[in-house]
Amino acid sequence: MGSQVKDHVDFAYELDLVVKPDSTVPLLGREFNYYVGSGIPLFSIGGGYLRYVLQQVLVGFHARRGYFIAETPIIASSELFKLSGHMDFYRGNMFVFDIEGKEFVIKPMNCPYHLLLFLNHVARYRGKVRLPFKVFEVGRVHRYEPSGSVYGLLRVRGFTQDDAHIIALESDALDTVFNVFKEMVQLLEGVFGLEVGSENIYIRLSVSDKSLIGREFMGTLEEWEAAERALEEASRAIEGKYGVSRVVGVGEAAFYGPKIDVMMVVKGGATAKEWQMGTIQFDFNLPRRFKVYDVVKELYGDTRVFIIHRALLGSIERFLGGYLELSKGRLPVHLAPLQIAITLIKTGDEGVDKEIESRALELKNKLLENGFRVGIKETTKTSIGGDIRHIETTIKPPILVFIGEKEVKESTLTLSIYTKKGRTRKQLKVKNVTEAVEEIEKIVGEEEAKIKEIAGVNPRIPADLTHTL
Ligand code: ZN
Repeated sequence: MGSQVKDHVDFAYELDLVVKPDSTVPLLGREFNYYVGSGIPLFSIGGGYLRYVLQQVLVGFHARRGYFIAETPIIASSELFKLSGHMDFYRGNMFVFDIEGKEFVIKPMNCPYHLLLFLNHVARYRGKVRLPFKVFEVGRVHRYEPSGSVYGLLRVRGFTQDDAHIIALESDALDTVFNVFKEMVQLLEGVFGLEVGSENIYIRLSVSDKSLIGREFMGTLEEWEAAERALEEASRAIEGKYGVSRVVGVGEAAFYGPKIDVMMVVKGGATAKEWQMGTIQFDFNLPRRFKVYDVVKELYGDTRVFIIHRALLGSIERFLGGYLELSKGRLPVHLAPLQIAITLIKTGDEGVDKEIESRALELKNKLLENGFRVGIKETTKTSIGGDIRHIETTIKPPILVFIGEKEVKESTLTLSIYTKKGRTRKQLKVKNVTEAVEEIEKIVGEEEAKIKEIAGVNPRIPADLTHTL
């Protein structure tokens, strides 16, 4: 069993990010699968913290970059998706149902709602709305996938996109694409600590087969050429600036437009897995169907615009799947469900133990006050080895604090901090609870400063997670 390779699903369960579907834990006398269908990952307690933190970061990140923040409903009248054309060409992937004789759908994508928001906004404020118009949503979508193809967090029936739509003048297309990629880099590096120029990330440019435009690829040759020129130039600039390798797929574009996809590669031994993450896609179908060209012509003069779909992470679920494998379940301190585990090593001596306990409690309360997610683990000198091994292979807190007899005698506390470089822990002795809190503030603060810089928020969700230890 020792050589068994763990995948994202194992890491997700270990960290308590999602609930294990084949759980043998008796649940109302039934197996988990009985109540929750396949392809619908249920995020667990740990996953809840991670998602709320991520959501705050994503909202702040986009709002300060000129995106309007939206929140659109999960269900929609099928009329909206008839207008977008999805009821014709995508119905097989959609969940369609009836309410009082009227047809409704669960939205498989957010675009139609975002275009309604655009049209409403420009109708209301007329030509005052500046282009590019950008609207963002942490949007939950559902699509039908055959039960045979659903897998972990990677292929699911319900997922969440960090989704935005940009309506940009043709003259702004190149800048827009390049800016979106810049945003992607800021997010991947600043929040997830990924290296965009590394071998783990490459971009794939998918363009049309020119001979099939007007038949298999909808829109005009002019539109395709302008969009592909912007994508080509932007992707070359990206390659040059960030050192990301680039693959071009001729004839691989979507029928509605060309695109750039960002791929994550995880190498494990002889095998390499890859997943699509972020995407930047042009669309020549929706502007026609939503009469965007007519509206823009009326309000802004006879200028052509592009509609661009873009997601920086793509599906948050799928992104997490790849990220967990890449990071081997070691999340950075601002994303870790449990940030700090206080390990209290009991001695059997009542006086010493009392002192140990009171210090651990004092530290826990101070850390909670400061907004951290913390838990206390009670152990003894003889069982500490096993307990630490368990913690390190399950919830993996980036920071451990030890309080035992030695610490009480020396009047110190020992911090053990996980560092990404070398994938190991370094020990640090501090004098007291105040110093420990200061040191932890410094460690977390360093990570948070990067997020503050790019997203303008400092997301902290205080939680006592002692029960997870
Ligand atoms: Zn879209």
